[in-house]
Amino acid sequence: MKVTFLGTNGWYDTKTGNTCSVLLQAEEYDIILDAGNGLAKADRYITQDKPVYLFISHFHLDHIAGLHTLVKFRFSKGLKIFGQPGTTAILNTFVAEPFTVPIAQLPFTVEMIDLAEGDHTLPFPLTCLPLVHPVPCFGFRIVIDGRVIAYCTDTGVCNNAITLGQNADLLITECGLKPGQESPGWPHLNPENAVHIANEAHAKRLALVHFGAEVYRTLKDRIEVYNQYEKQCPGLVVATDDLTIEI
Ligand SMILES: [Zn+2]
Ligand SMILES: [Zn+2]
Repeated sequence: MKVTFLGTNGWYDTKTGNTCSVLLQAEEYDIILDAGNGLAKADRYITQDKPVYLFISHFHLDHIAGLHTLVKFRFSKGLKIFGQPGTTAILNTFVAEPFTVPIAQLPFTVEMIDLAEGDHTLPFPLTCLPLVHPVPCFGFRIVIDGRVIAYCTDTGVCNNAITLGQNADLLITECGLKPGQESPGWPHLNPENAVHIANEAHAKRLALVHFGAEVYRTLKDRIEVYNQYEKQCPGLVVATDDLTIEI
């Protein structure tokens, strides 16, 4: 399965990248994790002839700002948007006048589904669990095409991130903080936190996204993370926009 990192910045866009969005190209579905400004690049990679499933972790703008670009797409099999309880009501307010073209006027069918915490069959298996963040935020675990992908952003260190990442083929976590940096009042992960979660979960591979725009000012800052942590976490991916990996 191809995994493409459409947007890898946290908080805001800079020359290092767009805000958070990740594309999974499964056999029967195109799956998008979060809708930061990277979302606008999805049509560089997909033909738009499969059903598109979009999962929203939470409503901080770096995870939903790209939704105003939905009008450019032509998803011939429609779009389903999933998120925590309240997602439908919030998106009906945000993807609406006077901000942007309303959901009902998009040039494809859209279905929004609020998900309770726990296990679901969509029909592929999905688990969502709350993470640690100043606002309610879901992490996701998706099983599809014989692969397990977990997506945990935004969060501090928590057991649910380890549970979601258990034996995952790919665990994607945020990396909002620099090595050694802590932010107890507004939880995010530094690289050692992310590596700790991946190792506790026995994830086969860890990919870091959501590099805080204010602290990771150049891509060189990210390369330093790779150089520092790859030995503790073989196969570590320090994502940059438009990187595609095969899992
Ligand atoms: Zn964020
Ligand atoms: Zn956030």
